[in-house]
Amino acid sequence: MSLSKRVSGIKPSPTLEIDAKARALKSQGIDIIGFGIGEPDFNTPDNIKETAIKAIRDGFTKYTAVSGIDELKDAIIEKFKKDNDLNYDRSEIIVSCGAKHSLYNIAQAIFNPGDEILIPAPYWVSYPDQVILNDATPVIVKTGNDFLLTPEGLKEKITPKTRAIILNSPSNPTGMAYDKKSLESIAEIAVRHKIYIISDEIYEKIIYDGFEHISIASLGKEIKAITLVANGVSKAYSMTGWRIGYTAGPKEIISAMSNIQSQSTSNPASVSQKAAIEALRGPQDSVKKMVEEFDRRRKYMVKRLNRMEGVSCIMPRGAFYAFPNVSSFYGKNFDGKVIKDSYDMAGYLLEEAKVAIVPGDPFGADEYIRLSYATSMENIEKGLNRIEESLRKLRSTTHGPA
Ligand code: PMP
Ligand code: GLU
Repeated sequence: MSLSKRVSGIKPSPTLEIDAKARALKSQGIDIIGFGIGEPDFNTPDNIKETAIKAIRDGFTKYTAVSGIDELKDAIIEKFKKDNDLNYDRSEIIVSCGAKHSLYNIAQAIFNPGDEILIPAPYWVSYPDQVILNDATPVIVKTGNDFLLTPEGLKEKITPKTRAIILNSPSNPTGMAYDKKSLESIAEIAVRHKIYIISDEIYEKIIYDGFEHISIASLGKEIKAITLVANGVSKAYSMTGWRIGYTAGPKEIISAMSNIQSQSTSNPASVSQKAAIEALRGPQDSVKKMVEEFDRRRKYMVKRLNRMEGVSCIMPRGAFYAFPNVSSFYGKNFDGKVIKDSYDMAGYLLEEAKVAIVPGDPFGADEYIRLSYATSMENIEKGLNRIEESLRKLRSTTHGPA
């Protein structure tokens, strides 16, 4: 069967794939601990659920405006003003079916064949594939030891074909986040070279140790004019299944995205839009509670990982992932099989420790693995005990082929 050229260049989302694998093993009765998918383990807060139930009862179950209802756009505008000191009007906002869809529509609206899109590594798994799906070329940019993009690293990769940079702060998978000074130097380069910034800020509310999230778009008029901010309610309000993401940016691009949406998905689910209004405008104490719990788990997980011989892990500033380097185990031999890379390590941990993690390679960092701590403390303790034991076993084995 012949498929499009476009689709042959991409792979399924590895994070969703690992989750499916772990679920399948669990359904066979195997006791798997899942550190795979990045999805808050908390319930959607009751006030949000109740608002959605009311919307159904009130019959708010029909098509809406393609780019989202005005009331939700207004709630998003208020959010940008309050949290990011950014002013937008309705024509500069579009609501889509999850932040992944927002990012996809941005790519559809601004990428041309041959355009080079800069992606600092480690990156979220979907960025390069979304670039390829839109006929542009991903150009991976190396970062420093702290996983952050440097002005030098960025300048080195800029060519006349460079169209956009995809920034993600706080980052999935590293948890690193940019401070104001670093964002200013990136913004200055982007403005000078007229390169769009696609700023994925989905983890903006999940930050620790008093870190202040800054949106790069807020750093001045010039940078705002070339920045598309993607965000959503999935992570902050534990609403991954509701599928609401949004974008703020120049109105010509937002209008193009709305046209794309009108010919592809139409409006995001009506009921979910009502729920998102309540998420943004309602009480925010559940976010605070969730972040406090993530913080406890973050400290515990990172401390435990760093105590394991051969493992090193940077302390994340945000999101809910630990991203340890496990490359000291590569080349080790277990049961006649050499652990060559992060995929082998993920396979080994699934088989031996019965723990699902995501290999680092699809994030552009094969020396690493990603563990999500969006699961209970009990699971984290149990899972880390198992990983520790399995890695200890691996350490004591020989190097090289069997
Ligand atoms: N960006 C990043 C960095 C993410 O980790 C995710 C998680 N899925 C998304 C975007 C997409 O979020 P959503 O569920 O709203 O599509
Ligand atoms: N962003 C989450 C993750 O990285 C959800 C999975 C996905 O959307 O790919 O695990």
